[in-house]
Amino acid sequence: MGSRRDFIEKMSLTALSLPILYAPTSLFAACEEPYDGPVLRVAIMGLGSYGTRVAKAMVDCKRAKLVGVISGSPSKVTKWKSEYHIPDKNCYDYTDFDRIKENPDIDAVYIITPNGLHCEQAIRVAKAGKHVICEKPMAINADEGERMVKACKEAKVKLLVGYRMHYEPKTVEVIRMRKAGEFGQPKFFQGQSGFVMGNPNQWRLDKELSGGGAMMDIGIYSINGARYMLGEEPIWVTAQETKTDPVKFKEGIDETITFQMGFPSGAVASCLSTYAMNHLDRFYMTGEKGWVEMQPSTGYGPIKGRTHKGELNQPHVTHQTLQMEGMAQLIFEDVQPLVPVDGEEGLRDLKIIDAIFHAVKTGGKVPL
Ligand code: NAD
Repeated sequence: MGSRRDFIEKMSLTALSLPILYAPTSLFAACEEPYDGPVLRVAIMGLGSYGTRVAKAMVDCKRAKLVGVISGSPSKVTKWKSEYHIPDKNCYDYTDFDRIKENPDIDAVYIITPNGLHCEQAIRVAKAGKHVICEKPMAINADEGERMVKACKEAKVKLLVGYRMHYEPKTVEVIRMRKAGEFGQPKFFQGQSGFVMGNPNQWRLDKELSGGGAMMDIGIYSINGARYMLGEEPIWVTAQETKTDPVKFKEGIDETITFQMGFPSGAVASCLSTYAMNHLDRFYMTGEKGWVEMQPSTGYGPIKGRTHKGELNQPHVTHQTLQMEGMAQLIFEDVQPLVPVDGEEGLRDLKIIDAIFHAVKTGGKVPL
């Protein structure tokens, strides 16, 4: 595939202006060139639709390898064992996975289960002495997030959150441009995140398992995006909820929330999170000297975007491959992405979500 070589060449140029803390070229090269350094041996917990996507993406990783599974479904385990050559001794279920502590052939567990299960599962993984990689949202509220951060600190293991956009090349380029002052002082961010939710009988519409509706699932992309596009942490939020289908979206499951955030510099963000409208995956940011528009901005790609300087033309690479390659580098070599992917980062989003839900209830401005 010629595009991979072109990509590496283009990224080499981009990387010249990147801080050394993040080197995307090495990530792509790592997928292409011989590599004999340490390999992060990962067990995936939750073999659902996203777990399947991550497993497929990891086949192209050099620094990370799928070596184990944790699942409640024996038929899935059989299928994954043969597809990914996973030995029996690396297969667990939800009742017995604490035994992973005695398994020297697994370094990290990637939790890809419903949101409401993340906290307890992450704490058990940490207690078993394995690094925790956890899907977004890291948990269903900030209290849970804090417990996870504490447990991982105590166990001296890493806690990383599946923020794949922090490794996506066009997103990384926009963050680099913002840090280099190419947009001037960022002034305004608009984030639109949503789709029409189908099957009404899934865990995403069950408050105990999801922690909320669209906000936990898709609105979080606009929250996280506002933070990395503006480069600041919000100091207040306001939010308004509308619900057109209270049967499908029961109490505690938000259908549509519009929310606004204010930042210390005076920058503001205006965002939409919804399970009731399609074609919403768009970020726009304007600063004193320039602007950027990304649409799609957070889907599986290719991401598309342009700035006041022209099209963003970094080629598409599977997000989860880059993420896992980057997370392995982070764990083994302490190479940090431009925007963190650690538990503190996950916790920041959860604190904002808590405040948004509070603002919906009170109708007021909630300080952060
Ligand atoms: P899914 O329903 O397809 O898979 C969930 C898995 O968890 C299934 O294998 C299911 O059997 C298992 N599970 C274990 N206990 C369960 C229980 N009590 N109830 C229901 N299922 C249970 O969901 P998914 O789309 O794979 O999402 C899983 C996680 O991944 C969520 O936290 C979600 O937010 C996240 N996710 C992230 C992205 C991303 O782009 N980063 C994309 C999709 C999903």
